[in-house]
Amino acid sequence: MKQDGVKTMNEKQGGTQSAIEMARRILSEYDGKPIRIMEVCGTHTHEIFRQGIRSLLPENVQLISGPGCPVCVTPVSFIDEAVMLALEKDCTICTFGDLVRVPGSSSSLQLARGKGAKVKVVYSPLDAEDYAREHPEEQVVFLSVGFETTTPSCCVAVQKAEEDGLSNFSLLTANKTMPAAYNAMMDSTDAYLYPGHVCAVMGTKDCRDMLEKGMSGVVAGFTPPELLTALAVIVKKSQEGKPFFVNCYPRVVRDEGSPDARAIVDKYMESCDSRWRGIGMLPDSGMKLKPEYGAFDARVKYDLPAIEGKENKACRCGEVLQGKCTPEQCPVYGKGCTPEHPVGACMVSSEGACSAFYLYNRK
Ligand code: SF4
Repeated sequence: MKQDGVKTMNEKQGGTQSAIEMARRILSEYDGKPIRIMEVCGTHTHEIFRQGIRSLLPENVQLISGPGCPVCVTPVSFIDEAVMLALEKDCTICTFGDLVRVPGSSSSLQLARGKGAKVKVVYSPLDAEDYAREHPEEQVVFLSVGFETTTPSCCVAVQKAEEDGLSNFSLLTANKTMPAAYNAMMDSTDAYLYPGHVCAVMGTKDCRDMLEKGMSGVVAGFTPPELLTALAVIVKKSQEGKPFFVNCYPRVVRDEGSPDARAIVDKYMESCDSRWRGIGMLPDSGMKLKPEYGAFDARVKYDLPAIEGKENKACRCGEVLQGKCTPEQCPVYGKGCTPEHPVGACMVSSEGACSAFYLYNRK
């Protein structure tokens, strides 16, 4: 009876007991040439650690953390802009919680709070729009960060603000798109563990485009069976000696993705060049509001100057995000930089590689 219960739970999580055992065996018995696998998504990094999956891998299968944590890749200059809006333009900043403690060039939003800045933590862009509607006397700016998964909900908030006739709500955008990052990281890895939730929106076209460039990868879900299966498929297919792509998350990811989510983004936003923390400017890797929605664009509305942020030279987030070093190779990891006293965004964010290593990998 108990065995049936376990089996049913595993099946709900996307894998049968025998499939999980087979995946474990493929991984633990692999003794071929070294394989570097980049888990692009910060949630994958944390789940792989949290479920103990790293300990199942042989030495010749190396996991590399990539640039898929939205808070981590948001550049220093964005925090500087948010602090300027709060302190100099008297705006109320609505943001996801992790961004509050991310250091800017000289201040975080948390420090700005001590100087009188109004910073409110919200759980969705629509919460920020609600707040703006309920506080017409305040100018509310939502910090619009994230990948293809969060951008549609930012556009929904603009649509709602339009419907509600709000003139006190805007977005400070730093939304990112993944394909430019996939291209930029190709030399750091042999195969990508593609983010399941991004592919649920965008479909599998971007992954297939990468396959045409010779880059291997699989789409992975987030449960232990799904992650084990995806890693085992990479190991197995790598032995065939040619590039491959497999959708290992078919219960959620369809080839066409979510056309509705993409349609609302197409209505309100357009592609732009975008700066990634530590990596620099990547052409066509961001999204910004279209000119006709300038009334909802905080940079336009408050005529913000271009800011060149200054990164903390002690922080190696840029290299961590590109898989060029591990958090443990950063000289201040665990000493000057901890989740309580973070030096860089990768230690602040609940999806950051440095926080994952600190939480799960300390000796
Ligand atoms: S350990 Fe801290 S300082 Fe070093 S790369 Fe990570 S976030 Fe930056």
